[in-house]
Amino acid sequence: MMPEAAGEEAGVSEMPSPLFAANWKMHLGPSECSAFVARFAGLYGPRDDRRVVFFPPAVSIVTFVASATGREDLEVGVQDVHPEAEGAHTGAVSASMAADAGARWGLAGHSERRREFGDSDELVGEKLARLLDSGIKPILCLGETLQEREEDRLYEVLSRQIGAALRELDASRRQALTYAYEPVWAIGTGHTATPTDATEAHDILRKRIAHLTDEETAERATILYGGSVKPDNIDELLASDGVDGVLVGGASLDPESFAAICSAGSR
Ligand code: PEP
Repeated sequence: MMPEAAGEEAGVSEMPSPLFAANWKMHLGPSECSAFVARFAGLYGPRDDRRVVFFPPAVSIVTFVASATGREDLEVGVQDVHPEAEGAHTGAVSASMAADAGARWGLAGHSERRREFGDSDELVGEKLARLLDSGIKPILCLGETLQEREEDRLYEVLSRQIGAALRELDASRRQALTYAYEPVWAIGTGHTATPTDATEAHDILRKRIAHLTDEETAERATILYGGSVKPDNIDELLASDGVDGVLVGGASLDPESFAAICSAGSR
């Protein structure tokens, strides 16, 4: 949901601005990353009414930061980190290394990690803790499968995922989280949740966040929608109640299409 025009009243702090996040998954290595940033920067200028964050593969984080010099509005994050701070874990990346490379944000709980790598709710909670230990802002991804939706288990699944992931985090750490509702049946499938579906799920999440934190934290929490977001459906998704931004996979790989998405609400 786009925020009300500025209008900050005395004593009332402004709500966080909408967030547009790009999850590149296993695409765009360093060379393609730098070409993308050059092109994207020419299409999308800095604006203070929204936040834009990219999640390149870990090997492209340093390149992203270097390519985006002078464009501090284009932030960068890490797609996944190991739950331990360091050690003999061939192929893994720690949160502190990601921070050292320039990552300011981190995903945890993406459905592809849950499905392909067996990331459990508890492991996701440990990853949130490591990200926070390194000063990285986590985005906790949650969402139901098609089967769970058809079995009318949306509330149960979202409650279980968020409850388990936040269990070991104290109150101040819980306040530092951003969320992404990503129905598994909508990721990379071309099927998008309707605005009503998105609002229903975001409403469940916001109530669970209030239960696990407090009303003010829940009201201020950024909850993204993710699942086949494209330039032609961004406007209606962003206008949906409770939707504070989007997490975009496929359509973020093309600079033109992601620039169009990031410009939504202003055309
Ligand atoms: C994602 O992977 O987070 C995602 C939302 O992908 P897509 O936009 O391709 O559905």
